[in-house]
Order: sequence, then structure tokens, then C-alpha cells
Amino acid sequence: MNTDSFALRHIGPRPENIAEMLKTVGVDSLDQLIYETIPDNIRLQKDLDLNEALSEQEYLEHITKLAAKNKMFKTYIGLGYHQSITPPVVQRNVLENPGWYTAYTPYQAEIAQGRLEALLNFQTMVADLTGMELANASLLDEATAAAEAMTLLFAVRDRDQKKRKAVKFFVSEEILPQTLSLLQTRANPLEIELVVGNHEEFNFSEDFFGAILQYPGTSGRIYNYAPFIAQAKEAGIKIAVAADILSLVKLQAPGNFGVDVVVGTTQRFGIPLGYGGPHAAYFATKEEYKRNIPGRIIGVTKDLDGNVALRMALQTREQHIKRDKATSNICTAQVLLAVMASMYGVYHGPKGLQYIANKVHRSAAELTDALEQLGYYQENDYYFDTIRIKTNAAKIKEVAEASEINFYYPEEDTVSISLNEATSLTDLNNIIAVFAHVAGKASIKVTSLEKDIIDKENVARDSDFMTNEVFNKYHSETELMRYIKKLERKDLSLNHSMISLGSCTMKLNAAAEMLPLSYPQWGNIHPFVPIDQAQGYQEVLKKLEDQLTEITGFAATSLQPNSGAQGEFAGLMAIRAYHESRGDHHRNICLIPSSAHGTNPASAVMAGMKVVVTKANESGSIDVEDLKEKALKHKDNLSAVMITYPSTHGVYESAIKEITQIVHDNGGQVYMDGANMNAQVGLTNPGNIGADVCHLNLHKTFAIPHGGGGPGVGPICVAKQLVPFLPGNPIIKTGGENAINAISAAPWGSSLVCLISYAYITMLGPKGLKSSTEHAILNANYIKNRLEGHFTTLYSGERGRAAHEMIIDCRPFKEKGIEVVDIAKRLIDYGFHSPTVSFPVAGTMMIEPTESESKEELDRFCDALISIREEISTVVKEEPNNVLKNAPHTLKMLTSSDWDFPYSREKAAYPLPYVSDNKFWPSVRRVDDAYGDRNLMCTCAPMEEYM
Ligand SMILES: *Cc1c(COP(=O)(O)O)cnc(C)c1O
Repeated sequence: MNTDSFALRHIGPRPENIAEMLKTVGVDSLDQLIYETIPDNIRLQKDLDLNEALSEQEYLEHITKLAAKNKMFKTYIGLGYHQSITPPVVQRNVLENPGWYTAYTPYQAEIAQGRLEALLNFQTMVADLTGMELANASLLDEATAAAEAMTLLFAVRDRDQKKRKAVKFFVSEEILPQTLSLLQTRANPLEIELVVGNHEEFNFSEDFFGAILQYPGTSGRIYNYAPFIAQAKEAGIKIAVAADILSLVKLQAPGNFGVDVVVGTTQRFGIPLGYGGPHAAYFATKEEYKRNIPGRIIGVTKDLDGNVALRMALQTREQHIKRDKATSNICTAQVLLAVMASMYGVYHGPKGLQYIANKVHRSAAELTDALEQLGYYQENDYYFDTIRIKTNAAKIKEVAEASEINFYYPEEDTVSISLNEATSLTDLNNIIAVFAHVAGKASIKVTSLEKDIIDKENVARDSDFMTNEVFNKYHSETELMRYIKKLERKDLSLNHSMISLGSCTMKLNAAAEMLPLSYPQWGNIHPFVPIDQAQGYQEVLKKLEDQLTEITGFAATSLQPNSGAQGEFAGLMAIRAYHESRGDHHRNICLIPSSAHGTNPASAVMAGMKVVVTKANESGSIDVEDLKEKALKHKDNLSAVMITYPSTHGVYESAIKEITQIVHDNGGQVYMDGANMNAQVGLTNPGNIGADVCHLNLHKTFAIPHGGGGPGVGPICVAKQLVPFLPGNPIIKTGGENAINAISAAPWGSSLVCLISYAYITMLGPKGLKSSTEHAILNANYIKNRLEGHFTTLYSGERGRAAHEMIIDCRPFKEKGIEVVDIAKRLIDYGFHSPTVSFPVAGTMMIEPTESESKEELDRFCDALISIREEISTVVKEEPNNVLKNAPHTLKMLTSSDWDFPYSREKAAYPLPYVSDNKFWPSVRRVDDAYGDRNLMCTCAPMEEYM
């Protein structure tokens, strides 16, 4: 046996455990289990056509060689992306720390107070800098955030009688090109009419409901938007502003002008460029729109003892509850990046940010001076970091590239230069030397940064920001390191115990997969550099696309979408474009089974489709008769069906081929939600079952860590007929021949983290991938059999097997007054994160162990559930003062001199022997959700409240 194979590291059960596990499951071999699990008619007949596995060492050598193919030019392209400096203390303690990057979305607030606090800091920082009342905890990128702003303003327009029928949205021609492309993508299906123009010539007519401005403009110009905004307000037109967050340190906050929404990216707050992402976008707005905000909002509330506690607020806006009426389809956001940006804010504080913003601005001003002395004309009268030189762009480009410098060349006679935090005096002088050379003059040297053209103008910021204690306290590294550790310790992540969230696939995020993310040759590449400077990336992205295409059995892949939900939207938009290309403009019905994930209906609505819900039968599978009836009924207008496979109930439906056939026969396309791909890789695939497109969640099946709620990557893989419609980008050509407009801002989405999935596939190879799927199925069935007699499992396949996940029914315990959340919270006392609660069936838990968990960990988890089951049997409804209702138990409770609970402290905190060996303490008692929503507070308390 090759003990150095990565598969042995990735897959949890040891070879010597397998026999016993199979015995528990009741089969003789893994092959028999798979035979009993997956219907024969969809099994793949041969192994995946992928390269043989590399060892970890071989992979690291391979990826280091590829890294050298990315050219490390000094890049001043700007356009929403700027080199920034990740504080090393943040890089090491957050980005490279599994305590942070392996956490899940903070649904279990009691064991997530650390990242919730970091996200509250993020919201506070954004609200302060933008001058708005509240901010969310991240969107996917600036362009999608701008599109969300447009749809929010569209959704609230009917609050104004005069605007009920308005469908026009004004877009300043100063908007970033990728943002415009995304606005087009999103406007079209909603029948919003975009009007692009010069804001100074806008006529404020009746039929506009909103407008968006860029601040500063793409050209770099700073406009005084106050008169425009005042006039728009008078005309009842709502205003969104896309603002550069670093510029806001020096410029008037847009909130001061009374705008409705401010969006942007926080990339330049310490986040690597990563050839396009991932980065956290922000979205800030007024209190009056709080129920319309897209994405996650963190709010302050209290726990059972009245202590301050944090949680995700206003969840009733979100897709998992509101489905087709949700405010957006956002599920996975960019939590890890928002945490990093917030820590950048904590590290620098307001004074540090001022220093950086001044440095960047003064570099631009000094550069302008020097270039003017050389005889060049600089066009922008007011600017923050971006200047425009009128000259022969081709000549400059030639000399600049020879000096390993990238500028942006928007026109033949224009060179645009955006400076950043990392630009040194030497860099400035190198830029000047390029221009001097072209002018045939001796260069000029800048020796200090003095000139400032903003400070004395009316555009200069005159309000304080980030005055809270947290931004003014941790400025020595020791203090910050300990603050980050303090928060980390409050959160349960995969480096503590299994997180068996059904549908979320919390598998190992191996160190070898993660290491290259820290290499500057991967981190420091701007998404719009010429392709020939990013050959390392191009190779990795192409190979990953090919690998995913092979794994899904399709014809091509687009890596652009930044989450599963964005993949759904992208796939549906490709389907829409396909129908339209055939003249079928009327096809707009989307069939979605009732058991579908909430993002499915939310995405369908965004794609301009009408959702028709189809029934599930009592075994949890799609009711084929009902589906057939509805497909027939809508056959003239059928656009698509969205199905999840194996089903959200964890069953490989054997009727799947019949289902896809019915939809095809009625003119529809089949969208497969690939969240459950961990049950398919190497054994079957979406192409094989007759789907036309699927998204994959690379942050589930393909080992990108969840990051506490993002980043994610949601590529779509498509059959031949949909390839021409894969999404494009307005700056770097990508996508199909008839590409739909952009789905994400960057051409290849979140390229940096694509390295992780590439590593995963490359180190597992065809055999390791298949073996992973088999072991995922083994682990789930092992749990199912171990829990037998204690919990009822809902739904299983025709031969009685679970797929890669399984559902246990907790509804019968209601008669004892025990709800599923009590079990979820009691699991915390046992050191475990709860499985998925109440999806897809209310009152149940969906358990997905993944292949990465060892037999020992599965046993601890099963022992915990069985022990909880025994606890349930001892409680009575009339006496809710019990160990389940009071869970989780904090150290503070346990060590208090008052203990008047009818059970021992030991039972509360150490219910099984293994717990005391590695106890995890929740930092608060059960949080009060209702109180938090009633008293919404989404920023850190101001300084005074700490005094
Ligand atoms: C996770 C999930 C999604 C959404 O994916 P995100 O990356 O969170 O946007 C969609 N469908 C199912 C079944 C899922 O489990």
C-alpha cells in the first residue's frame, strides 16, 4: 500500500476499520453497498478519464512551477481592483487558520460568537465609512452588489404612488464596465430598462424609479453629486452609489447626501487580488429598507441570561423561508473575506486608514505633478487615486510592459493609472521613468508625498468614522493576535469536531490544498492583466474546467459564478438564452419540486421565470405523475425543471431518467442542483441522468472551505447546446460564442480559491475521487445503522440504503416538549455542531458526515445522539426545566455558586466520558432571536456604551 497517497489523508476511516463498518451496515463489501445504493441504470461503466493522483509533495512542486508562469508586473489597472497589503498577522491568524476558514455559516449562534463579532465589526466599519444606517455582512462582489441595489430599489418603488409603473433605471456612464454588464444581466429578466448616460445631462423624468452613480467615477474623476441627488430625490428617484471604500476615508460619505443604497467592494482592505476573487462586497442602506436587504445581516440580541449575544438577524427575508418571494437568492456570501477586511480595519484603525488613503491620494497628486512637468496633460481635475493622461497609449504600453508595468488603456489616446496602498516612491519613479522615456526627456524624481488636492475642497470628508473601541484598541501585534484568538476560540470549526451539515458537505480542507493561496504569484494577480501574464492561472483554470466537465459528463464549464445560488441563476440564464436563440421567447415556466432548496425558486424568479411547484410523494421523491401532468399542462411554455440529485431527501431516485425525459419531451431543459454531487463523483453524473446543466458547489464537494459562510464557487457545467451561452466578461474575453452578460464581476470569478478544487481533484485522481464518494456513502449508512432503534430515519432508497446523507425524525419528541432545536443545542454540550435543522423537512435533522470523518468521530457523534435520545426519554412536557431545554450550558453557569437545576453540573457539561478530554464551551446561552429582530441593532455599540 502506498501510505503516501493523498486519498489516505483525505478519507477518514482507516482501512482496518472498513470490515467492521461494513458489518454494522450489513453488507460484505463496499461494492455491495454501492450496488444497493445507486440504481443500476445510472451507474457509470468506467473510471473517470483524469490524470493519476499526485502526492501532496508532487502537487506542491507542480503548483509552484505553475505559479512561476504568472508574471508579477506592477499593476495600476484599477477598475475596482487594487493591490493591497494583507497584514501578516491577519494572513497567518485568519486566512491560514483552519479555526477561521473551516467554520460554517453562523446558524448555531452560541458557537459562532467569534465570527459574528468580526462581521458586526465589518458592518460597523462599512456603515461608518458610507454614512449609512446599516450594512449587511457581505455580498459576492461589487457588480452583484450593484445589481442587488437596483433590484432593491425596484422592489420598493411601489411605496411611492407615482413610481408604481416606473421601469427605467439610470446608470451613469462612469460605472465600472463589469458592473454595467451585470446590471444588464439582472435587469433584462425583470424587464427593467437600463438607460446609460452622463448624469449631468439626465432629465429626471417620471418613468425612472432609480439611478446608480460611481464614486469616484471609473475615469477617476470625483464629482460633486449633491445637486444631482437633491434633484433626484425631488423627483422621487431613488439613488444607489457604488463607492470605493478607501476613497471614503477622504471623501464625503454618500450617506450625507441622503442616498438610498451604497455598495462596493472591500477588496482593497487587505484582500489579495487573486486574479478576480474572492473578495467581500458591501451593501449599506437605510433603516427603512431593512426588510429588503439582500444577504446576511448580523444583529445584537441577548441570551437566556440577558447577556449580550450576536446572531443572524431578519432571516425571514431570506430564500430558505421566502423562496420565490425572497429579497435575493444569496445564501453563501464572503464571510472569510469580510472577516479579513474587518480585521484590516481593526489593525489600522481610523488613523491608519487615513494614513493609507492620504498616501495613495498624494502619490496620485505627486505623479500628476511630475507628468505635467514632463509635458503630459492629466485630465481629471479632482481625483482620489486614478489619473488619466492624454497621450499615445500604444507607445506608453510598449515601454511600460517592457518595464513590467501595467496601466489601463481605455482609449487610443488615454492612459489610466490607479495607485494603491502598495505603491512605493520607487514604484512612482518607475512610472515616471516610463513617461519620461517616451517623451525623450530626463526623468523626474519624487522624493516625498506632500501634495493633496482633496483636503481643502467641499468633497473632503468632514465626519468621524470608526470611533468604536474595537477599531482603536488592538494596534500592537500582540494585542491583535490575542483578539483574533479570543474570537476564534468562541467558534466551533472543523478543527474541533465533525460538522455534519446535510447538503453542505463539510469535508476536509487539506493544508496542501490551501498552502498555495498564500503565494504572491497567485494572490497578487489583477483580473484584467493581459492573458499572457497569467499563464499559470490560465492553465489551472482550464484544467479545472476540463476536470469538472469530465466529472459531470457534460461538454463545458464556466467557473464564473461565485456561489451555488449564482450558478443556479447563471444556468437558468443560459437556458433562457438557448430558448430565445430558437425563437422561444415565451418559455418561462420553471417546475420545482416542493422539497427544493430555497435558492432554486429564488433564482428562477431572478431569471424571469414563473415557478410551478411539483409535489413530492410520501417517500420524499418527486411525484412523477404530478410532474408529468404539470409538464404537459405547461408544455408550450415550459422552460426548465430544477431538480436535486440525489434528492434533497438523500435518495437516488430511480425514476430520474424518466423525469428528465418527460421534461425534454415537453420542450424544457433540465437544471440539476449539484449540491449533492458528493454522492455522484465517479459513480454517476448529471450528464448520464439526462440533465442539461448543473452547478457545482466547489465549497461543498470540491474542498473549498466554507470560511464561516463563504467564499464559494458555483461553476456551471453544461451540455453541448448550452455551451454558446456561457457567461462572458466585458474586458477579458471568456465564455461562449453568444455569451450571456456577466454573472460575476471577474472573468473567472474567484480564481484564487479554484486552486483548492484543482488540488483536490489532482491529488485524489480518478480512483481517489470515486473512493471518496464510496466512503461518503459508507459513513452515512454507518450512522444510519448505528442510530437504528434510537431514531427513525426518514426516506431511503429502494434497497433500504441512505445516500451520502440521511434524515432523522425529531417530530415524535414534541409530545415530550422537545423540539429539534433543543437537540441541536444539546449537541453543543457534547462538543458537536448540529446537523442541518428542518431542511428539507421541518422538525428533522439531516446528517451528512462526508468521507473525511473517521470511524472514531462517527462513533462519538452517534454516542452523543443516542445519549441525547436517552435524555429525551426521561423528560416530561410539564417540566421544561431540563437538560435539553437549558442547553447549551456555559462555563459561567456551571461555575456559578447558584445551581438550581434538577440535574448535576456534570451531566450538563460532561455527559459522556469523551467530552471531558476536549471540551468545547459555548460562549453564550441560547440566544433570543425574536428579541433581536424586534430591536434591530446591526453595528457595534458606540464608545460611550463601553464606559
Ligand atoms: C448549498 C445549497 C445551495 C446554495 O448554494 P450556495 O453556494 O450557498 O449559494 C443550493 N441548493 C442546495 C441543495 C444546497 O445545498
